[in-house]
Amino acid sequence: MEKIQMKTPLVEMDGDEMTRVLWKMIKDVLILPYVELRTEYYDLGLLHRNDTDDQVTVDAANAAKHLGVAVKCATITPNEQRMEEYPQLKKMWKSPNGTIRAIMDGTVFRTPIVIDCVKPAVKTWQAPITIARHAYGDVYRAAELRTDVPGECTMTFRGEDGSEQAVSVQRVEGPAVWQGMHNKEQSIRSFARSCFQYAIDLKQDLWFSTKDTIAKIYDGRFKAIFAEEYEQHYKADFERLGIEYFYTLIDDAVARVIRSGGGFIWALKNYDGDVMSDMVSTAFGSLAMMTSVLVSPDGNYEFEAAHGTVTRHYYRWLKGEKTSTNPIATIFAWTGALNKRGELDGTPELCDFAKKLEKACLDTLASGTMTKDLIALAEPGFEARAVDSEEFLKAVASRL
Ligand code: NAP
Ligand code: MG
Repeated sequence: MEKIQMKTPLVEMDGDEMTRVLWKMIKDVLILPYVELRTEYYDLGLLHRNDTDDQVTVDAANAAKHLGVAVKCATITPNEQRMEEYPQLKKMWKSPNGTIRAIMDGTVFRTPIVIDCVKPAVKTWQAPITIARHAYGDVYRAAELRTDVPGECTMTFRGEDGSEQAVSVQRVEGPAVWQGMHNKEQSIRSFARSCFQYAIDLKQDLWFSTKDTIAKIYDGRFKAIFAEEYEQHYKADFERLGIEYFYTLIDDAVARVIRSGGGFIWALKNYDGDVMSDMVSTAFGSLAMMTSVLVSPDGNYEFEAAHGTVTRHYYRWLKGEKTSTNPIATIFAWTGALNKRGELDGTPELCDFAKKLEKACLDTLASGTMTKDLIALAEPGFEARAVDSEEFLKAVASRL
C-alpha cells in the first residue's frame, strides 16, 4: 500500500526496560509499514538522561510545546535501588514525567480502555470514566509541625508590599500536629482550562468536585475559578456540543459516580485525584489497560501508558524468555498521538489509521487472543488464548 503521509512530525520520547522493547516492536509491526512516520526523536532512556545531565528531558518537553503532540514511553524514575543497579548514575534524576509536566504546565487525564470480556467491578459502568488530577500543591507541598506544649498556632502571610494578613489556626491545651497548605491561582486556572479543553476534545461532560462547604475560602476559590473560566471561555462551546459542566460536593460526586453509567471526565483536587484514580482504575480492571494524556492549557498533548516500565518482565526478557507483557496501553498512546496529529494537521487518513489500529486491538481481544494479565481478569466462561507480546502484535497486525 501507499504509506500514509504526515504533514508535521510528532515528538517521540523513548524510554526504559520492557516498555522500550515493546516500543520498537509496536513501531516495526504496527506503524512503520503503514505510515511514513515523521518524529522528532528524544531518547529518555535512563542512561541517556544521565549522559545529558537530564537536558534531553527538558529538550523533549520544549519540543512537545513547539510541535503540539508527543508520545512517551514509560521511563525509570531512579530511587536508591536504581542507584545501586546503575552505578554510573551521576545523581538521582528527577521523574521525567514531573519535569515534562512542569514545563508543559499540564494536567494528566487517565482513561481506562474498556473491553467486553473484562467487566468493571461497578455493574452500572458501561463507558470509561476519565480522571483529571490537579498536580500542584495542597498536602503535597505542605509545611508540617508537631508541638507538645499548650499554645496557639497562627498563620501569617507577609506581602512583598509590606502588608500582612494573619489568622489564628487553633489554641491547644496539649500536644498537637499542624499543617500549612497552599495553592496558586494561576495553577488552578491552568488546571481548569486543561479540563474544559479536554472535555471539548472528547465531547464529554466535565464534573468537578471539592469540599467548598467546609473549606469556604480554599476550595471555594477552586470552585469560583472553574466557574469563571467556564462562563468566560468555554460555555458557548459546551452548549454547541451539548455537553455539560457540572459542579458538586466531593461526597455527592462519589455517590453519583458509583451510580453512573460512566462516560464523563471527573476533575479532582490533588489528593482526591490521587486516591480516586487508584480506585477507579482498579474497578475498571487493569493498569495495563489505562491510558494517560497530559494536556496543557494552551492545547499541547503528550500521550503515554499509565503503567511503568514493567521491570520484572524485562529481566525475564533479558534472560531470553518470551514475556506476555500487555502492549495495549502503549499502542493506544501511539494511536492517541497519531489521531491528534491528524486532527491538528487536517489529515483525516492519519486519524482513520489510528482508529483502525485501535479497533484491530479491541477485535483481537474480543476474539479471545490476549496477554496473560487479561486472561486472569476475563469473565468466567470467556474462551481466551494466552499469547506472548510478539504473537499478540502479529495477531493485531493481521487484523489491521
Ligand atoms: P509497573 O512497571 O507498572 O509494573 C508493576 C506490575 O504491574 C508489573 O510487574 C506487572 O505485574 C504489572 N504490569 C504493569 N504493566 C503491565 C503490562 N503492560 N502488561 C502486563 N503486566 C503489567 O510499575 P513498577 O514496577 O512500580 O515500576 C517499574 C518502573 O517504572 C519504575 O522504575 C518506575 O519508576 C517506573 N514508572 C514509570 C512510569 C512512567 O514513566 N509513566 C509510571 C510508573 C512507574 P506482574 O509482574 O505481576 O506481571
Ligand atoms: Mg495514588
